Amino acid sequence: MKKLLISAALINFIALNTFAGGTESPANISFDQLLSHISAAPVAVPEPASDKVSTPAGADGRYWITVKAADKQTRTRLLEAGLDIVEIDKDSVSGFAGAYTMDLLSSKAYAVTSRLTLAEYAASVNKDFPAGDAAYHNFQETTGLLKQMASANPEIASLFSIGKTTEGRDIWCLRINSGAKGTAASAKPGALYIGNHHAREHLSNEVPLLFAAWLLEHKGDADIKNYIAKLDIYIIPMLNPDGVEYDIKSGNYRYHRKNMSTNSDGSRGVDLNRNYDSWWCEAGASSYPGSDTYCGPKAFSEPESQAVKKFIEARKNLKTHISYHTYGSEILYPWGGSDSDIPNLKDKQVFEKVGAEMGKITGYYSHKSSEMYVATGDSCDWAYAAGGIFAYTFELDGRGFYPGAAIINSTVTKNIKAAVYLFSVTDNPYKAI
Ligand SMILES: [Zn+2]
Repeated sequence: MKKLLISAALINFIALNTFAGGTESPANISFDQLLSHISAAPVAVPEPASDKVSTPAGADGRYWITVKAADKQTRTRLLEAGLDIVEIDKDSVSGFAGAYTMDLLSSKAYAVTSRLTLAEYAASVNKDFPAGDAAYHNFQETTGLLKQMASANPEIASLFSIGKTTEGRDIWCLRINSGAKGTAASAKPGALYIGNHHAREHLSNEVPLLFAAWLLEHKGDADIKNYIAKLDIYIIPMLNPDGVEYDIKSGNYRYHRKNMSTNSDGSRGVDLNRNYDSWWCEAGASSYPGSDTYCGPKAFSEPESQAVKKFIEARKNLKTHISYHTYGSEILYPWGGSDSDIPNLKDKQVFEKVGAEMGKITGYYSHKSSEMYVATGDSCDWAYAAGGIFAYTFELDGRGFYPGAAIINSTVTKNIKAAVYLFSVTDNPYKAI
């Protein structure tokens, strides 16, 4: 399976290089070609049926469960027990739970109404992965594409690493700015787009990555040209490449959410979106290392969240931000870590108005992040509190973490429009109200 995946990825990589000109020298990457390549991409490599059930659960031991929970307080407590809430219904929630969480739930008399092993769950929602998902870009392909974009557009694009991951991979940032390059300072208002805090959310890499490709292809359009001249644009499509590679490398998805740090008990991974210093680990996060919502040993304990912290703290010009996640078709704004509204009324109005506009464009439901449950240590809460940045979490569309390659086209297309809309208010977000 692994071999098949690698060859499919190689075909994908070669194809990208081919329509970029077929030579060693970088040429402009056609966004339409990228998208049509993606649409045509699924490589029909039949997966042996035995693989589907043998590997995903494996020694993992997690379950997909449904638990009765009819209110926000219960959902928040469940997160603290280590339940990785993925879906919310009126009277219940569903998500991933390990043995520790299962024990905790039964000792506290929570009503678990359904329980599937990870293998049973995977078999119920996925039919033909991951060979059919070769259109998604792994770390090497993402890196290659970013390098190609930067070298083909040297007058406006530059690429640099904001830091190394736990396993030593670079966290790449593509910058688009008509003046400053690399890490040089800029006084222009800044917009920041980050994907893939969570490993299994592969669509959240595709959106910012292809947004970058689209921007560079449309750099001559009057409106885009104007934004590029006036703004400082940063795109970090894959914040957690260690987790991404771990999630795909066996040939069967592992539903891995966290990074790849080795914890004190030998378990792997910290939930990067519980690791920021905003009410760190106070509610809706677990202090148990093995759980999917583990907040880490301390705030900013992880190299990936540290890199974002340093990046944002060094750039006081940043005004707007989207952090992409999957899934749920939602746009979330602070606070996520507190029930209360942000205290600044004007800022609250901006968050609501700009969120609503992006909601109209995407069809996503825009609301305060803590509406469904409280979760602390969130990146966007921290970015707003620390930098005054109008920071949004997007839960992209799709049902499930592995929605297949066919969804990329429509999700990317609508999200480009929302991301460009955000440009329009980045110089002065208050003009939106
Ligand atoms: Zn996520």
